[in-house]
Amino acid sequence: MGAKALDWVADYYDSLRDRPLVRPSTSAELRARLAEPVPQEPCAFDCLMRTMDEIVAGFSRHNAHPRFFGYVSSPGAPVATVATMIAAAMNINLTSWRSAPAAAELELLTVNWIKEVVGYPSESLGVLVSGGSMANLAALAAARAVKGNGLVYVSEETHFSLRKAARLLGMPVRTVPVKDRLELDIEGLERALREDRVAGRSPVCVVATAGSAGTGAFDTLGQIAAIARREGLWLHVDGAYGGFAALAPSARALFAEIGEADSVSLDPHKWLYLPVGCGCILYKDPAAARSAFSDNAEFTRVVGLEQDEAFAFWDYGPELSRPFRALPLWMLMKSVGVRAIAEAIEENLACARYFEELVRASEDFEMLVPVGLSIFCFRYRPPGFEGDLDALNERVMIALQRGGSSYLSNARVHGKFALRGCVLNYRTSRRDMEVLLDDLRVAGRRSL
Ligand SMILES: *Cc1c(COP(=O)(O)O)cnc(C)c1O
Repeated sequence: MGAKALDWVADYYDSLRDRPLVRPSTSAELRARLAEPVPQEPCAFDCLMRTMDEIVAGFSRHNAHPRFFGYVSSPGAPVATVATMIAAAMNINLTSWRSAPAAAELELLTVNWIKEVVGYPSESLGVLVSGGSMANLAALAAARAVKGNGLVYVSEETHFSLRKAARLLGMPVRTVPVKDRLELDIEGLERALREDRVAGRSPVCVVATAGSAGTGAFDTLGQIAAIARREGLWLHVDGAYGGFAALAPSARALFAEIGEADSVSLDPHKWLYLPVGCGCILYKDPAAARSAFSDNAEFTRVVGLEQDEAFAFWDYGPELSRPFRALPLWMLMKSVGVRAIAEAIEENLACARYFEELVRASEDFEMLVPVGLSIFCFRYRPPGFEGDLDALNERVMIALQRGGSSYLSNARVHGKFALRGCVLNYRTSRRDMEVLLDDLRVAGRRSL
């Protein structure tokens, strides 16, 4: 089974660039192909692989394709694919050190590497979680445990998972406006804090975004940290999309004050190129996380003094049973080396900036906001077109997606419909950015 599956995986990687990005289908069509009664009799592995190849692979969107620019989507990596298989074979359950000694050490080690590459203090502690949404939930839970329940400040660009987390935790949210580049408006935050204090409400937490999922907007961490310090607020930085851009020399300066944050969310399953299912939450003060998640929180222990073998992951996040997420992470970082990952991230940034240059040099496209990290938001605007640009660009996006050669998603920028792309794939080249623009022109002419 393994040999057949791995042959299939190798063929899949080899054929990726030539596959249509997505084959249009309907729910009814796929249901008709898959539906059958509960299987009672065994089925040969070859038969399972045929369904997998023809239907699952045949009707999936190929997120690892070099011109898949939708959402914030990692391509995954071959070594991580293999690591996932090995992890499943051992079926290690990382509830605590005792349950999984070597795997626990590997997780703590890789999280330490992550702290170091993003510039977070070494006395902090982090754990791997299912993704950025879970990391953001864990962060707000820690904030509430330390500061009490009260207002959480987010911006209009903040990821919706933070509003969702606040709602789940029963924490009220205050949304602050953004500036021209969609970064949190510092004066707007000061004003909101003043108003809320006067009205007797209690602010407890402010969220800064290190690269928004919509536009790549990057909040001014230093200014927000200064306000958080002065006001006694918990500072959470959502770096689920942008956090690993700290590895790229051209973006590193943006992260200078990341060490001020009380918690940071990261998604190795985005810009560390891992397959989906690996997020990370870092807490500056490990005791803060314990007060939210530990069952005996009033008995505060100091990590350095407690027995390392008594370490329990359930004291630092919502999950009990946890898969071996660190194995793909460790194998990827070791096998290619972090220098190569940093170069790939830098090249992703360069591809996005190159696309911006192509758009600015063109007569029929315009940027709607400058490139933010590796995200570009723009629209089709052919000379002389007098109609509804939002509607035209929606048609262009659908036509592009149907074409199967390139894929973009959308965003709203200053109230306008934007075509939106995010470069997050080490396979993507500058030539792919030129092909994207060619594909867009074809889609554009069809949509007029
Ligand atoms: C993707 C993303 C999230 C949510 O992360 P998931 O891993 O999808 O749960 C949160 N914040 C930002 C900025 C993101 O890009």
